[in-house]
Amino acid sequence: MNHSVSPIGIVHSCFKEKFAIPRQPQLAPAARGVLELLPPFNQGDAVQGLEQVSHVWLLFLFHQALEDKPRLKVRPPRLGGNKSMGVFATRATHRPNGIGQSVVKLERVEADRLWLSGIDLLDGTPVLDIKPYVPYADSVEDAFNGIASAAPALIAVRWSDEALVQAQVHAQRLGEPLVALIEQCLAQDPRPAYQTPAPERQYGACFWDVDVRWHYPAPDTITVLTVVPAAA
Ligand code: SAM
Repeated sequence: MNHSVSPIGIVHSCFKEKFAIPRQPQLAPAARGVLELLPPFNQGDAVQGLEQVSHVWLLFLFHQALEDKPRLKVRPPRLGGNKSMGVFATRATHRPNGIGQSVVKLERVEADRLWLSGIDLLDGTPVLDIKPYVPYADSVEDAFNGIASAAPALIAVRWSDEALVQAQVHAQRLGEPLVALIEQCLAQDPRPAYQTPAPERQYGACFWDVDVRWHYPAPDTITVLTVVPAAA
């Protein structure tokens, strides 16, 4: 059976590239975005009642990881990128139908848009459906996962004086918790697990409209070096 699906909305996210997006939602509460609803879902009727809900499930398309050939095994970054695992045992982005799911906080409901936080979604992500989080059914008390048993360990994030001032200025201009966003995302240690970073090597990622650069003065510490406007 073939069945086609179409997006009900598009996410406008703080994350402009895949690198440095947390591996799951809720890991960076300062990660915010807006889900713009598309016709005919943007008139208010479809979201009526959602103001009584704190969190929603988003079913979405990994639109920047779609592939024609199905993969049966994947190498999840969480396992260091060098151990393969059945695709259905992982939350990897390369999936048979390219479908992702994230539970995110609903900050505000408007007729044609939902304001979200705690997201792990790339800018432009097409959303296929929205469902309310139902605490009594969606939270399983005795659940376990031997592959991903706990949230990834955090690493220390420090700032150069220059970068902190730059981030504070951009935070004020954007009206966004940019300092917290950078700290929460970098604390997840975005570099691939197999890379041992030389202190002179710089890494970078774009959040909102700024480029953030950092390095690892020691393997378990990040120092943010600069926060400057991204090239247009
Ligand atoms: N919570 C979702 C799930 O379990 O289905 C996503 C988990 S996946 C491991 C999270 C990663 O997906 C992020 O770190 C980001 O790099 C990537 N990602 C987010 N949105 C994407 C998109 N639209 N296309 C491709 N990759 C995306």
